[in-house]
Amino acid sequence: MKRLFNVSALLVLLWFWGGECKYMVYDTSERILADKINVHLVPHSHDDVGWLKTVDQYYTGANNSIRGACVQNVLDSVISALLDDKNRKFIYVEIAFFQRWWNQQSELLKTKVKELVNSGQLEFINGGMCMHDEATPHYIDLIDQTTLGHMFIHREFGQKPRVGWQIDPFGHSSVQAYLLGAEVGFDSLFFARMDYQDRAKRKSDKTLEVVWQGSRSLGSSSQLFTGIFPRHYDPPDGFTFEINDVSPPIQDDVLLFDYNVQDRVNDFVAAAMAQANVTRTNHIMWAMGTDFRYQYALSWFRQMDKFIHYVNLDGRVNALYSTPSIYTDAKYAANETWPLKTGDFFPYADKENTYWTGYFTSRPTFKGYVRTMSSYYVAARQLEFYKGRSSSRPNTDALANALAIAQHHDAVSGTQRQHVAADYAMRISMGYAEAEEVVASTLAFLTTSKSSANYEKSVGMFQQCPLLNISYCPPSEAVLANGKSLVVVVYNSLGWKREEVVRVPVSSNELIVLDSGGREIESQLLPIFNASLNMRNYHVKAYLGKSPNNTPQYWLGFTASIPPLGFSTYIISSAKHTDTSSTMSTVWTSETTSDKTVVVGGGDLKLLYATDEGKLTRYINNRNLVEESMEHSYSYYSGYNGTDQASGAYIFRPNGTFPIKSEGEKAFTILRGPLMDEVHQQLNSWIYQVTRVYKEKEHAEVEFIIGPIPVDDGVGKEITTQITTAFKTNKTFYTDSNGRDFIKRVRDFRTDWDLQVNQPVAGNYYPINLGAYVGDGRMELSVLVDRAVGGSSLVDGQIELMLHRRLLYDDSKGVGEVLNETICVLNDCKGLVVQGKFYFRIDPVGNGAKWRRTYGQEIYSPLLLAFSEQDENDWKNSHVSSFSMIDASYSLPNNTAVITLQELESGKVLLRLAHLYEVGEDKDYSVMATVELKKLFPNRKISKVTEMNLSGNQERGEMERKRLAWKVKDSSEAKIVRGGAVDSEKQVVELGPMEIRTFFIDLDYLGMFGSVPSYE
Ligand SMILES: [Zn+2]
Repeated sequence: MKRLFNVSALLVLLWFWGGECKYMVYDTSERILADKINVHLVPHSHDDVGWLKTVDQYYTGANNSIRGACVQNVLDSVISALLDDKNRKFIYVEIAFFQRWWNQQSELLKTKVKELVNSGQLEFINGGMCMHDEATPHYIDLIDQTTLGHMFIHREFGQKPRVGWQIDPFGHSSVQAYLLGAEVGFDSLFFARMDYQDRAKRKSDKTLEVVWQGSRSLGSSSQLFTGIFPRHYDPPDGFTFEINDVSPPIQDDVLLFDYNVQDRVNDFVAAAMAQANVTRTNHIMWAMGTDFRYQYALSWFRQMDKFIHYVNLDGRVNALYSTPSIYTDAKYAANETWPLKTGDFFPYADKENTYWTGYFTSRPTFKGYVRTMSSYYVAARQLEFYKGRSSSRPNTDALANALAIAQHHDAVSGTQRQHVAADYAMRISMGYAEAEEVVASTLAFLTTSKSSANYEKSVGMFQQCPLLNISYCPPSEAVLANGKSLVVVVYNSLGWKREEVVRVPVSSNELIVLDSGGREIESQLLPIFNASLNMRNYHVKAYLGKSPNNTPQYWLGFTASIPPLGFSTYIISSAKHTDTSSTMSTVWTSETTSDKTVVVGGGDLKLLYATDEGKLTRYINNRNLVEESMEHSYSYYSGYNGTDQASGAYIFRPNGTFPIKSEGEKAFTILRGPLMDEVHQQLNSWIYQVTRVYKEKEHAEVEFIIGPIPVDDGVGKEITTQITTAFKTNKTFYTDSNGRDFIKRVRDFRTDWDLQVNQPVAGNYYPINLGAYVGDGRMELSVLVDRAVGGSSLVDGQIELMLHRRLLYDDSKGVGEVLNETICVLNDCKGLVVQGKFYFRIDPVGNGAKWRRTYGQEIYSPLLLAFSEQDENDWKNSHVSSFSMIDASYSLPNNTAVITLQELESGKVLLRLAHLYEVGEDKDYSVMATVELKKLFPNRKISKVTEMNLSGNQERGEMERKRLAWKVKDSSEAKIVRGGAVDSEKQVVELGPMEIRTFFIDLDYLGMFGSVPSYE
């Protein structure tokens, strides 16, 4: 081969010297030269799965007045250019686009494309449906969206992506590196964006390429080679070749003017040497492309053909068509010892006043919707599996696809245009509607399984209430027809038994609640105040285009007790014919008291409030004798609106902070009852909050309603809340990574470089998906959240969360719209109102993890409710009232969750189990956990258990055998705990702290229709 090359090179030289112009054959064969700088040219197009246009508009090239971008053109022209010349290569990343294109191709072209993939000319990199955001998604969503893409690639091409390619996300999470990288089986990860101070230091230290160890618990087994681009994910200046780009093309035709081969070769060599000077080994990578490029692919390939040819003739450096995989193998072959990186790459600033920490909170209602639907999807798949998946509709596929693209780095991040945000939400709601049918029919199946005739009758029997959060639930608020009762099925998607208060809006105050066994249980009525009703009526009109039929008067609360992965049924009946009735809450208002303080909470947890100001002052837990001073406050940052850098969808640039004092009357109202106490406070005309203390729980729950944020003064505002204790926390706090590992943060400090502080607030903000905590060595304050938010500890003893943002200036990061969300009824629009929850608790140090982890999982997986009006006696006689998928004597340990239970198209079952605790977090739970598969599938026979990698596209053993083992500087650590192989007889899965294990399970169905076991 080598000799052949020399001959052809000679021929080319002859043509060149001869001054003749003929058809040129450029020598672009791939070669790596050990004694030269090798410049790996990686042709790519960064195709956002929605941003300025919707995903389909980007695909088809619609709405081009916003942006001339058509991914269909990219794929058509790239494939054609690759077929023209076998030396050319291309990587493709976003499977949401590729899948759209693939479905439209002929069998003939598909065959050719498969050949391109098999030969390595076309390589899938990353391979999820989208290039997900790293700050705001939950890890379960990241796994699901990656799995969806990887399974497509595996099904159609038999390929397994080897490389992570997160080039654009605005900061990088450790969970991305170790979980979505190393555990998927990637050999490397590449990205572009990092803090400008960090980058400067890494360039001078030559530490842009590192081995990243993303998990404290999983140590060296979580390591991944990680390469950071020296500047951005585009080529060096002067080497971009889209049709309208200004880079000078190589002009090598001597008969034409402006012949410039040597000049351009010199430019190339200079750019390569500059990069080589900040890079270890003699391999450098150029990402040849950027956003939506290669719409006319030949314009790039033509130039690269020539550059490779002439640069290699020149001989000072060696250029080649490459991919990140080829580059990774070259780096590995260099046998270098790499610096170790721990922690993550948050927050990201690209210059002094430009901290990308606003998007941690941007579009908080969309973030809340994505999170709610994420957990609904987990539950819906479990139920779908139990009944048996249908390849025809309805099924959960549409929800899967919608949630997958919602993880894109301009989707759940909140950094897209408004019409695109609406498109994501619409897709999710359509997916939800279909999944809702799956859930309803499965519940009908499971409750009626004593009689298959009943099941036929009862399809469509169950209604669900997706707007329950705004107290809208038609089946529960309807007045019960004479003799009828409301059946409430409560499903628990977690593997352990739960006892939790369920609340539904009702119209009557004469009700009783019966449990699955027909026993009357305690229940509590809480009046629904006007603030909630107004909000409900407005939003129902806005979302559904109609006004509600009823006006519920009360919330009815009762304690549901639900078996693991199962349901219990509760019956709400009229109390007219009984002696008893639900307990009405007592109402207490601060105006009618002379006491200085008032105590809230009927169980161990007590919150003390000062009656004059309505302020929380003390937190007391009588069980563990915690008693601490505590305050809860709200404030806002005014968004900077200067021309140099405004606060916007991406950027948090505060221009002063202002406490929000309650206005006018300091009155507040307390509702008390047997199950819970609630403190209602209208802080001002646009902040309402309810602080809830359940008798049987030791944490407080805060439900907030914020908005419309007033901007009449021309100032955008970012609303925060603070929980403040007197703890001396020494600038230290902890925030989670994608809802999983907690990472230590120190105010005004970075582990990797000497931080120059320019933005003392924005530069100390971090993404929060699960929660945050602070401690003083004696006590720990933990706060948990119901969606992605930004947060910090800007003052010792305090945790701050940003809950809502409304801004009036664009932050010049490309979206070109202001983040000023509104909600409209017809054409009458007002600023968006967000309703959400957070939770707080204090524990003696070392005891906080139990609540953060186990209760945190319960926050992620709220109980799923379904309703049906029925004749009480008929129902009881002919229906299953309680059920668990798993063995009646069994429960998963409280440190383990079933994060995926899904029947695949192949009929296999995908089971993913997660250990929820880190090493050393909790003395009882940070230990090896075990799960007995036989008891998870009690009435089925497990014929085969195959352990897979995280994305389920290869066997775990195969992945481990292939994995590259990188040499790392200063790597020393304790022994890593991971579960052992699953014995085929015992079928017990072990999980070490923070371990997630994925299995394909072949089941033989022993149970038949109509023989579903009931659980009591
Ligand atoms: Zn992007």
